[in-house]
Amino acid sequence: MNESTFSADSFAAPLPWQLEQWSQLSRALAAGQLAHAYLLAGSAGLGKSLFAKSFARTMLCLKPTTKKVAGKEVRVPCGECANCLKGCAGNHPDIVHIEVEEGSKNIKIDQIRWLSEFVIRSSHSGGAKVAIVQDAHLLNGNAANALLKTLEEPNKQTHLLLVSDHPGRLVATVRSRCQKLNFQTPQASVAKNWLGAILGRSNIEALLEASDMRPLTALRLAGGDWMEGRAQFLQSICDMKLGKKSTQQALALTPKIGESDVLLHLSAFLSKLIKYCLTGSEVREDDPAFAGLYTLLKPSNDQQVTQSVASSLALFHTEVELARKQLASASNPNPQLIMESILWRWSQLELS
Ligand SMILES: [Zn+2]
Repeated sequence: MNESTFSADSFAAPLPWQLEQWSQLSRALAAGQLAHAYLLAGSAGLGKSLFAKSFARTMLCLKPTTKKVAGKEVRVPCGECANCLKGCAGNHPDIVHIEVEEGSKNIKIDQIRWLSEFVIRSSHSGGAKVAIVQDAHLLNGNAANALLKTLEEPNKQTHLLLVSDHPGRLVATVRSRCQKLNFQTPQASVAKNWLGAILGRSNIEALLEASDMRPLTALRLAGGDWMEGRAQFLQSICDMKLGKKSTQQALALTPKIGESDVLLHLSAFLSKLIKYCLTGSEVREDDPAFAGLYTLLKPSNDQQVTQSVASSLALFHTEVELARKQLASASNPNPQLIMESILWRWSQLELS
C-alpha cells in the first residue's frame, strides 16, 4: 500500500487493540441488549471513529461473519449484503454521521434537530438505525441540550455512538446518559506489529514513540513531512545548546512544524534523555535525530551530578507535558508565548 493513500478508513475495525470493546458490544448485540447510547472515549489516533463506523455496519449486516483478529474470533460485517454495500459506500439511510461542518468550530443545534428526526423516523431496512456523533465534545450548548432530549427519550431501534477524544469536555448530563467505552493506547508490541505489517520499514519505534503509542497517529506521521520537521526541530534545539542557534531562531521554526508536534518531539526526546542520563545507555541508536542530542549529555561518574541533571530534566519534562495540555485546552492558549517559555527553559537547563 502506498503511504500517501493511508487514511483511517483504509482499515476495518476491530483493530488488534480494540478487541475488548468490540467483544463487549458484540455480546450485547447478540443478546439484544445494546444500550441506547455509547460514548467511545480515548485519545485521538486509536481508531475510535473507525470502530464506530465498522460496528454500525455490523449492527445492520444481514449475515454477519467471523474473522480472526490477533488470534481471537470476532463477529464482523460480511461486506457483501445489501446493507454492507450501502454502509461501505457511506450512503445507508439508516446510518448517519454528525460532525463539525466545514468552516465551523462546533456541532450546531440544526444538526442535532436533524439527528432527532432521524431517531424517531422508522428504519428503511427494517432493522436497527445508528447515529454516529464525531467529536461529541464539540457540541455547542444548545446542541448538547437538544441531544440530551433525544437521549432521554430513547427509541428502541436507534443507537447513538458518540465519539470523543476529550470526553471530559462533554456536558456531564449527556455523558452520564451514555454507556462509556474506554479506548486505551495499545501495548508497544501490538502497535509495533500492526504498524510494521503496514509500513514494512524500520523507523516504526520512532513513529510510535512520537505519537504517544497511538497507531493511527503514527501512520499519519509516516505519510507526511512530519519526520523531517521532527529532525529539523531536534537539530535546532541541539544547536541552541551548542551556541550555533539562538532561542529566537529555534522559535521561528515552531509555527511551521506546528507547536503541538514540537512539544510532542520535545517530550519524547526528554524521556529518552532522562533514561540515558540514569543508565548511560542510548535507548535507541538507530534514530539519527537523537544522535546529536545524546552527545550533549556527558555521563558523569559523580552520582550526585547525575541525579541532579536527571531531576532537572524530569522537572522540565513535566513542564513540557503541562504546556502540551495548555495548548490542547479549549481556553484560547497563546502558542507563541508557550513556546517562548519552553525554549527559554531549555536554554537555561544545566546538562552537566
Ligand atoms: Zn453484510
